Amino acid sequence: MSTQLQEVTVPHFIGNRQIGVTTQPIPQVGPGQLLLKPKANALCGSERPQWINGTDITPGHEAAGIVIAAGEGTTTPVGTPGVVFLMDFCGECRNCRQGFTNQCLHKRGDMGFNRNGGYGQYELIHENLFFPVGDLPLTEATLLLDIMGTGGHAIKRAGLVHSDIRTILIPGAGPIGLGVLAMAKLLLGNDVKVVISDVVPYRLKLAEQMGGLPVNSLDMTLAEGLKHHGAEAPDVSIDCAGKAVVRDECLDLLAHRGVLVSVAHGEGLSINNLYSDFVAREMTLVSSEYFAYHELEENLPLLLANRSYMDQIITHRLGVDEIQHAFELFFGGETGKVVIEQ
Ligand SMILES: [Zn+2]
Ligand SMILES: [Zn+2]
Repeated sequence: MSTQLQEVTVPHFIGNRQIGVTTQPIPQVGPGQLLLKPKANALCGSERPQWINGTDITPGHEAAGIVIAAGEGTTTPVGTPGVVFLMDFCGECRNCRQGFTNQCLHKRGDMGFNRNGGYGQYELIHENLFFPVGDLPLTEATLLLDIMGTGGHAIKRAGLVHSDIRTILIPGAGPIGLGVLAMAKLLLGNDVKVVISDVVPYRLKLAEQMGGLPVNSLDMTLAEGLKHHGAEAPDVSIDCAGKAVVRDECLDLLAHRGVLVSVAHGEGLSINNLYSDFVAREMTLVSSEYFAYHELEENLPLLLANRSYMDQIITHRLGVDEIQHAFELFFGGETGKVVIEQ
C-alpha cells in the first residue's frame, strides 16, 4: 500500500533571472514544528544569487503567515498569524542561551536558502522561529524582519561603543539602508542627522521622505554630501553598499570616537593608510549580521506606533503569480520593499 502525498505548485527559481513553477508535496508537521500558510513575503537583495543562478529550494526568507497545523509538543494555536525568523537556531547552545540567536553554534538551516521558504504555498518551520504578530496585517508584519530587525540591530551594535550619536552616514539607500535610516530615527530620535547616499534617484527620494538627507553619489563625493547638508563628521557610518572604496571613504570621514558598522557583506576594507588615525581617534569597526530573535518583540511596539511612517518602505505588492515581474522590478532598482502576497 502506498500513500500519495498531495502535491502543490510553487515558484521555481530556474536561474538566468527566470522563475517558473514546479510541484512539491505538502509538508507534514513533525514534533516541535509548525506548518504555515505564507500570506506575504518581502523580496530581498540577498536573493540575487538565487535569481541569477537558480535553486531547487523555494526561496523567501521574509515571510509572514498563518499557522495551519501544529506538531506534537508545540504550544502555538492553529490560526495564529506571525512572522518567521530566518535562522533556524537551536535555542540550546551557549550563544542561543545568552540571546545571541543570530550567532547560533548549531544552526539547523536558513529558511529560504537551504530550507523551503515563504514564496511557496506552505512553509514548515521549527516553532521557535515563529513570532506571533496579533492583528497586524501580514504584509506590514514583514517589516519586522530585514527592515526593522536588521536595521535596528545595526544601530544597537553602534550603540555598544558610542553613547551620543548625533550624525550617521549611510552609503546605500536600498531596502537595508532605508531600514537603518528608519530605525536610527525611531531608536535615537528625530534630531539625529542621517546622511544617506545612492545612485538611484527613486531611492534617494524615498530616503528623503523618511527624514534622510540624500546624497547622489553620481553628483558628489560623500565628503561633499556631508558639507552640502551642513553635517559634521559622522559619529557612525553604517555600510549598506558593500564596496571597499566606499568603506574606506567612510572610515576616513568618521569623527573622533567614530564607529564603522558593516551590514553589507562582500569586498573588504583597508585601514593601512588610516591606521594611525584609527588608533589616535579611537575608532571602532563593528559588524552586524541580521538580528536576534528577541528583537522582534522589542520592535513590534515600535512598528505599531509608527505604522504610516514605516509603511512607506513597502512600495509594491504583487500576487505570487506575478513573481517574475516582481523580481524584475525589484532588481531594476526603482522600488522600496516589494512584497509578494498570497
Ligand atoms: Zn532579506
Ligand atoms: Zn544555538
